[in-house]
Amino acid sequence: MNRSDSSEPSNTKVQSPQFWENGWYRFARRLPSPNFGARPAGICIDLIVMHSISLPPGSYGGYQVQQLFTNQLDWNAHPYFKQIEGLEVSAHFYVGRNGDLWQFVSCDNRAWHAGASSHQGRGNCNDFSIGIELEGLEGDTFEAAQYETLQTLLPCIAQQYPIAHIAGHEHIAPGRKKDPGTGFDWAQLQRCSGLTDQCFPES
Ligand SMILES: [Zn+2]
Repeated sequence: MNRSDSSEPSNTKVQSPQFWENGWYRFARRLPSPNFGARPAGICIDLIVMHSISLPPGSYGGYQVQQLFTNQLDWNAHPYFKQIEGLEVSAHFYVGRNGDLWQFVSCDNRAWHAGASSHQGRGNCNDFSIGIELEGLEGDTFEAAQYETLQTLLPCIAQQYPIAHIAGHEHIAPGRKKDPGTGFDWAQLQRCSGLTDQCFPES
């Protein structure tokens, strides 16, 4: 049905505010990061970027990713951390292997997840995207609980922001990034998100 059909009740979007408060999703654990900035004035937030991360890579269930995104990681705690020492990054959301959902930056602000990137000719994807990190590793598969969290989160984001595209970090920074990687099931994401074919990367 056409959403602008006049037979629809005029208050169909009235439920949005209960899920969001100034760009913060009500059902995520809030862990504010200092790593963010203002989005360019008037920008249309129409892209979701999917990532995977684990620290050290392949180690699941710890708190190191949350520490990294809030500049609390002890660079001496593991040899791998020395390779990323001083890195200041963030994402809007992080989904643990058990489906736990964390938020670090208001979606109204610009998080630092994409780096040098381009989507359909537009550079600086951080300006106009929402970044979602999944606890995982390039090449590894992801847990049912993580897709279940996305099943709830993605429609809520799409209700609040004019999302037209979902891409992987690997799609917007090809050659430089490989996440979320071959183990991520885009077809399952599409089924569970309820978003249309046109939103997804061409496979
Ligand atoms: Zn990434």
